[in-house]
Order: sequence, then structure tokens, then C-alpha cells
Amino acid sequence: MTWQDKRVTVAGLGVSGLPAARVLHGLGAVVTVVNEGDDARSRAQAAELEALGVTVRLGDATLLPEGTELVVTAPGWRPDKPLFRAAAAAGVPVWGDVELAWQLRDLNGRKPAPWLAVTGTNGKTTTVRMLASILRAAGLRTAAVGNIGVSLLDAVLGDEPYDVLAVELSSYQLHWAPSLRVHSAAVLNIAPDHLDWHGSLAAYAADKGRVYEGNSVACVYNVADPATEELVRAADVEEGCRAIGFTLGAPGPSQLGVVDGILVDRAFVADRHKQAQELAEVTDIGRPPARHPSPAGASRPPVAAPHNIANALAAAALARGFGVEPAAVRDGLRDFRPDAHRIEHVDEVAGVTFIDDSKATNTHAAEASLAAYDPIVWIAGGLAKGARFDDLVIGAAKRLRGVVLIGAERALIAEALARHAPEVPVVDLDRTDTGAMSAAVREAARLARPGDTVLLAPACASMDMFANYNKRGEAFADAVRELAAETD
Ligand code: ADP
Repeated sequence: MTWQDKRVTVAGLGVSGLPAARVLHGLGAVVTVVNEGDDARSRAQAAELEALGVTVRLGDATLLPEGTELVVTAPGWRPDKPLFRAAAAAGVPVWGDVELAWQLRDLNGRKPAPWLAVTGTNGKTTTVRMLASILRAAGLRTAAVGNIGVSLLDAVLGDEPYDVLAVELSSYQLHWAPSLRVHSAAVLNIAPDHLDWHGSLAAYAADKGRVYEGNSVACVYNVADPATEELVRAADVEEGCRAIGFTLGAPGPSQLGVVDGILVDRAFVADRHKQAQELAEVTDIGRPPARHPSPAGASRPPVAAPHNIANALAAAALARGFGVEPAAVRDGLRDFRPDAHRIEHVDEVAGVTFIDDSKATNTHAAEASLAAYDPIVWIAGGLAKGARFDDLVIGAAKRLRGVVLIGAERALIAEALARHAPEVPVVDLDRTDTGAMSAAVREAARLARPGDTVLLAPACASMDMFANYNKRGEAFADAVRELAAETD
């Protein structure tokens, strides 16, 4: 592909658009940026690009600029936008940030590093961090990139010579990555999420399944989630590429699993019908460090919740497929530390443990963390993104001491509770201001008894009340701290 004088439209300024426009302009392309917003931040970014000679149109992004030969879009832009309809009608390809990085990966003259990719509804960041930790323990030069940390464009174009990349990919990024062909990939799970964006569960799953297309070594799937195995079957892969399952039970041939608290590999061994290789103990999986150490003798958070054991197995499968030795899997899992707001132990106050899983922004994630505690006072609510809460409530009902609801669409959860758990006390906080979290924590503490867990696992997005899930988690932790200070 020659970039000189190629007419490229970059759709959307911001995290991916700004560097894409800079790089493409640097390659000699004639770049036009179109951006819906016309706020102060966009104007500052536009000024920076215009100084280089890039054309920027702020405030409207419906029209496809004359002569466009390629559109490079921010991954979050919905495919039904008029801009993309115009591109399709004109036969103009549309790439996302991942496709752009993939196409440019051999530009800096070095042999491109293979990609080990992870997608799924939940657990991507955790699994990619575990994978990077394992690869590092094996002495490989690597980074966790993609929808996490370093951008893919920076990773493929930068000076750092990587041996292999641990890549987190969202369904949006995969939607816009038509020619991606990675070394190996894992789909962790498929549950309804972002359906308003993709249009249907089938379309969402198909976009996730794109990650398996053209894999050369392994397609890693979740034995407990047949939809992921379906996607492997539907994928067109390279000759010799293997389907590798992971399971929390005993593994069959070509699977990784758990036997008596030990993570076991029956896939990457000489004779998978007779042999199994021990990788690590479940207790090796990094446990969350408490932000505020609990008083001596207080109960500690459980060692890796079941979904994190599953994530560790998926990471191990990708690493083993890349040739990593068992000891490095163990060492990498020991070194791993979860990111903030993912089942984070905040504190213990009056015998009640407070856990921040603000990152549980959908029902599937909340289901996983609700399954890890008993009894629970559950803090939930926010923006439902079209979700239904019946199954979540049915699954957790027996373990609920009480529920505190916050946020714009809390009525949807209240209705599910009334239908399936009418005996569980519910405090419906009719508030969406930021101070509501402090009130929620107080109400939860009032409902809880010593030995209980107060769990923030909102099952909803946070943007009705907070800038993002980080801010929501911080508000929770602050409120718990306030409570602890008053209780001391
Ligand atoms: P992602 O990057 O896919 O959003 P994270 O690793 O950040 O995933 O975890 C998000 C949330 O999803 C966590 O807070 C936890 O509640 C839940 N979670 C993590 N792994 C899994 C899994 N394998 N299955 C179900 N839920 C999970």
C-alpha cells in the first residue's frame, strides 16, 4: 500500500483519531478529519493538526469528503452513521484503529511482533494483564496493548522492539478490523452487551468471532460458554491451527482446566491423551492488595474468584501456545495484580467487608462477582444499556441480605427484585447526584450484619452520575473511608 497522496478521512478526533491523523499525514496521505463535536478540546486538537496541514471539519461528520479513498474511524462510532453508509455506497473501505495498526505493523522495518489477542464480554483487561505478566516472566519483551494501556499504533510504530504483544480487543475494534490475522486469540465469554451498537446479539457475537479469523496457532474458547466454541467452528483459520478449550473443571484433551486446586494443561503436552502438565496452583493467582490494610485478624478477600481462575486459564493457554514454559506461567500469575475497581477490597468496617467492583458495568460481570460472596448487601444501578435484570436477580436472590439502588435506570432492577426476590429489603435512593454514593454506602452499612459483604457491582454503566466507572469506584471508596473514620 502506498500512502503518498492517498485521500484519507479520519472520523473522530480524540484518543485514536488524533494519532491516526498525525501518522497518516506523516506518511504523505492527504488527511481530512471530520468530528461531530465542536467544543474547546476539539478546537485545540484541530488547531494542532491544522498547523501540520491537515484539514479538520468540526461540528458535522455526516458527509463523506469528496475523493475519499479510505475512512479511518474511531472504534466507538456506530456502523449505522450516514458517513459509513456513504462510504459503503462509494465502495470506500472503513478501518478502525486496530486495522490501521495492523496494516502499518511492518512499517518501521523490523519483523512485526506476533499478536496474542483477547476479547469477550468480560475479563479482557484482566486476562491481557495476566498474559503480559506471564510473557514477561518468560523473559519476553512484551506490552499489554489495544483497548488498554499503550495504543496499538504506538506499539507497532514505536522504537521499542517487542517479541510479542498481548492485545485487548473490543467488539467495536473487531468490527472495524477486516483483515486482522493474529497468532492466537481467546474469546472469554459472550453475553448481551452493547446491543444498541451492534444491532443484535448475533451481530455482536459475529464481531467478537472475527478475532479467530486466520489464526495460525490457537483459537482459545470457554468450554462453559458454547457460543465461544461455535465461533471457533465458524472461523476460517490457517492449516494446523488448534481449538483449545479452558474449563474450571478437569480438562479433556486439548484443554486447560483445574484438578484439585491446580491449573493443568492437557493441550500443549507431547501426548495430550495420556499426559497433563501442572502449571500453577489456584492460590498462585495474584490476589488484590487491600488499599487500606484491614485490622489484624480481619477476614481477607477470597483468593481468585472463579471468573479470574477462568481468565488465568485463558491467558495460560495463549502463552503456552506461544511456547512459554510452565514455570513462567506460574511466576507470571504470581506477579499479576488486578487493576483498580475490579473486585477491589476497600476496607472492613464493623465486621462488614466492602468490595468495589465498579467495573461490573453489565449484568454478566455483576453475576460473576455476586457469585463470589455470601451474604451480600448489593449496591447497583446506573445506565442499563438495554439490559434485563431478571436472570441476575434470580441467580443472586438467595445470597442477598439487602439491596441499595442508585442511578437513572434503577427502576428496572427494582422491578426485577419485586418479581423474583420480594422478601429482600430494597432501599431505592431516588438520587443521581454524586453525593448519592455516600448515602448508598450508609444505607448498605445499615442493612449489613457482621460477616456480610457490601458489594458495589452496579451491572450498569456509570455515566448518569459519574464521568466513568473509575470515578464511581473512587466515590464508593471515599464513602467507605468516611464511614470507617466515623466508626473508629
Ligand atoms: P473487560 O476489560 O472485558 O471489561 P475486566 O477484566 O476489566 O474486563 O473485568 C470487568 C469486570 O467483569 C470485572 O469487574 C468483573 O466483575 C467481571 N469479570 C472479569 N472476568 C470475568 C469473566 N471471565 N466472566 C465474567 N465476569 C468477569
